Amino acid sequence: MNTSSIHLNQQNFLTHIIDEDIQSKCLENRLWSGTPGDAKFQELKGKIDLAKIRTRFPPEPNGYLHIGHAKSICINFGLAKKYNGVCHLRFDDTNPEKEDQEYVDSITQAIKWLGFNLVENNKENLYFASDYFEYMYEFAESLIISENAYIDEQSSEMIKQNRGTLTEPGIDSPYRDRPSEESLKIFREMRDGKYPDGLFVLRAKINMKSPNINMRDPVMYRIKHVFHHRTGNKWCIYPMYNWAHPIEDALEGITHSICTLEFEDLKPLYDWFLNKLRDLGKLRNPLPKQYEFSRLNLSHIVTSKRKLFKLVKESIVDGWDDPRMPTLLGLKRRGYTPNSIRLFCDRTSISKSDSTIDYSLLEQSLRDDLDPIAPRAIGILDPIKLTITNYPDDKKEICYAPTNPHNKEMGMRELILEKEIWIERSDFQEEAIKNYFRLFPGNLVRLKYAYIIKCTGYLKNSNGDITNVYAEYIPETKSGTPGSNSVKVKGTITWLAITQAEKVLVNLYDRLFTDSSPDSGNKNFLDYINPDSKKTITAFLEPNTIKQNNTKWQFERLGYFALDDKFSNKNNNVVINRIVTLKNSWSL
Ligand code: ATP
Ligand code: MG
Repeated sequence: MNTSSIHLNQQNFLTHIIDEDIQSKCLENRLWSGTPGDAKFQELKGKIDLAKIRTRFPPEPNGYLHIGHAKSICINFGLAKKYNGVCHLRFDDTNPEKEDQEYVDSITQAIKWLGFNLVENNKENLYFASDYFEYMYEFAESLIISENAYIDEQSSEMIKQNRGTLTEPGIDSPYRDRPSEESLKIFREMRDGKYPDGLFVLRAKINMKSPNINMRDPVMYRIKHVFHHRTGNKWCIYPMYNWAHPIEDALEGITHSICTLEFEDLKPLYDWFLNKLRDLGKLRNPLPKQYEFSRLNLSHIVTSKRKLFKLVKESIVDGWDDPRMPTLLGLKRRGYTPNSIRLFCDRTSISKSDSTIDYSLLEQSLRDDLDPIAPRAIGILDPIKLTITNYPDDKKEICYAPTNPHNKEMGMRELILEKEIWIERSDFQEEAIKNYFRLFPGNLVRLKYAYIIKCTGYLKNSNGDITNVYAEYIPETKSGTPGSNSVKVKGTITWLAITQAEKVLVNLYDRLFTDSSPDSGNKNFLDYINPDSKKTITAFLEPNTIKQNNTKWQFERLGYFALDDKFSNKNNNVVINRIVTLKNSWSL
């Protein structure tokens, strides 16, 4: 399935906006936005071709990407691809305490793994907000000088208290009319490290009575004596997201700054900062514009970084790459393919209304991606021995099975039939319940790719467990021979010759939460952990499965499985993860 073509043909409200912008030619002949003239800036200018549509994906390097981020990545990189434009990966590293190079590396790798290209004209479209700290500072000074910003020295509690509420206006700070020379002096001293954390902040001077709380003199800078993973100890004041983000977008020549709906109320502030900077001659038209879409919410899982962190910290899962985690690292280890994740993102609409997507849509995307390409293999997860009593003791007979029934080019595989085979425990019943067509005494079934057998009896041990099932085969019914249809049966079961089957460890993963919305309302998501979300069993696998140059399979009748590359190579152990069952076993 060619998933990228699906994406490129899709229309949504964002493509309509871009189409209109292209038609109105408002983006043509764009001039470079900023005015600073240092070397870093010249480098940036040389790198960016303004004639193109530019989007950006701006993660904070403070955690690992999850399926929600994949949606944003697919939108931003997808739109850039559709319009022959460019998408920037920009690290929004303005909050140094929680950020780290480790996250930068992991996020970069995850985006490449998803299949998105970061290289354009031999240059990597990788950007860091911290590269613009100098401009943000310079621009802030120009706002102070033009009396559009001031240094406040109310405590953070007072600032919060005086901000007002949705129904009450805010109260002007007593420092609001501080002369700009004084604000400028303090701001420079803040930068020079003269003051402790929290003593002063720089605030934009907008309107404390605005109905939009975000416009009530938002903080632009705060003092933080902390080490930054890229700028080291150079700075002890750091810009707030709301000040930093529009500048980052403008300097990079972003045309469409796409974010999630919770930023909608911040748009007037985004525009206010950009317009002020343009009026002050720091930026040029056309300025970037912000557009919002609703975030991806997935049922049966949580995606907030804070909650995912808790799952890791409390050892509810085995790390960020646990195959039950919605992180891209976890999905990858579980066996999800980049294609299946992109397909899923394409299938979920881009809209402005909040909704929760059922987890089964992600599972179905994996099935749809792997079905035409994954080789088939037989696995027996819960084995019980079956003896074909009338089959010669030492006979080994080849049975042929298609490697993938949808793709003849993948050829045939060989299964060896012998007198003693493993079958799945659930394929036998002592007394058949209604509509049970598999093995029970007296009934006939087909051994897939081999003969029809008739159940003749079974053996139980002293605990009452069935240890052996007995059957006779009908020689003229071998699959693929003229007599194969001479006897009609209603059931077909899978099997593996005991001497041939390979022992492997299989992790049977299931959803991590039993509730479809474990963190909605007042719920504590930790109360809804699925106790059966991981079960490790020893299972039998068709020989040569692992040797194939392949790491994902459909185990016939069971589902899709993948080699767990984290554990499989240690001590020659083979560990396999169940990605999804063949059918949706969860009712919607
Ligand atoms: P936090 O949980 O700390 O708020 P975040 O998920 O917002 O983190 P960021 O690193 O700020 O993490 O996200 C980068 C980008 O991914 C942002 O533009 C954000 O809007 C987008 N994004 C995050 N979660 C989702 C989601 N569930 N659906 C769509 N986009 C998302
Ligand atoms: Mg965020």
